[in-house]
Amino acid sequence: MTFDLDKLVRANVRRMKPYSSARDDFQGKASIYLDANENPFSHLFSRYPDPHQGELKAKISALKGTQPANLFIGNGSDEAIDLLIRAFCEPGRDNVVIPQPTYGMYTVSSETNAVEIRPVSLTSSFDLNAGAVLATCDSHTKLIFLCSPNNPSGKVLSTEAIERLLTGFPGLVVVDEAYIDFTGMPGWVPRLREYPNLVILQTLSKAWGLAGLRVGLCLASPAIIQVLNKIKPPYNINAATQQLTLEALNYPENMMREVSELRGEREKLAASLQNLPGVNRVFPSDANFLLIQVPNARSVYERLISVGIVVRLRPALLLYGDCLRITVGTPEENQNVLRALSEILSPSA
Ligand SMILES: *Cc1c(COP(=O)(O)O)cnc(C)c1O
Repeated sequence: MTFDLDKLVRANVRRMKPYSSARDDFQGKASIYLDANENPFSHLFSRYPDPHQGELKAKISALKGTQPANLFIGNGSDEAIDLLIRAFCEPGRDNVVIPQPTYGMYTVSSETNAVEIRPVSLTSSFDLNAGAVLATCDSHTKLIFLCSPNNPSGKVLSTEAIERLLTGFPGLVVVDEAYIDFTGMPGWVPRLREYPNLVILQTLSKAWGLAGLRVGLCLASPAIIQVLNKIKPPYNINAATQQLTLEALNYPENMMREVSELRGEREKLAASLQNLPGVNRVFPSDANFLLIQVPNARSVYERLISVGIVVRLRPALLLYGDCLRITVGTPEENQNVLRALSEILSPSA
């Protein structure tokens, strides 16, 4: 298999010139800035944010053990997903392959961009069947979206199966590692140099607890990152987000402490759910949520809502039917959800 990034990029994207601001020509420190029609009086956020997110990229890439040139920052990973589709998939002609069930945004972004979706089923243990994925690809397949740990199953996808796709598929293999910090595993970032077609998505929305700021990461070769930079809205990461994220990143030990507590809670919650009469199945999870199979999941879901507890209903998953996905909460929240479930599922109720 040969990988040719230039051939993969849409022709219009390859040809276009990106939007350029004066801050692209001049990156030093000036005494007077009259280039961007900003309000000159002193307000907290009167100036446009750094379009290159220089400081933020330096900090995040150091934390991830990579280089700023390997990093794209999006307004959530959802922006990176959308930009990948728009950069590489010709509407009405190209397609993306998506092993299912998985995160919904790959499908939503593909449909928004009029890009054909080719679904493939994960195995009954929610693992990846690399042969089936490769058999679904054709010469117009540009992207394969993998989610590991997978949402909603919670399980990491097999390394060997992903390696088979990376070596056997000439397009981009996107591995969404939104939950990687909960796995205790290194994930795919240390292997970026091995695979020119590997694209990794991560986010500060989950383990880092910054969902409200919208910071998504895309890690890939500098050539792929340049394509995304070329088409991104220039000021996609606002100044408040850049500032507050830089501050939060100073305390990785907070993140690690919370992750470690949540992993402990995950195991306790899984064991308690397993022992709850009426719970048919608790799927093994490497993430900060648990997928469970209960009879009449939809009515259980509605009864939980009626007592003020919101979980996620995941309908018609493979052979398991309707399931519930429960985020691991604080110890107290987990106790409450267990108590509510045990009342709802008890035969006398
Ligand atoms: C939560 C989640 C994301 C995060 O998206 P953001 O836009 O960065 O908040 C990405 N991928 C998956 C699979 C998720 O579950």
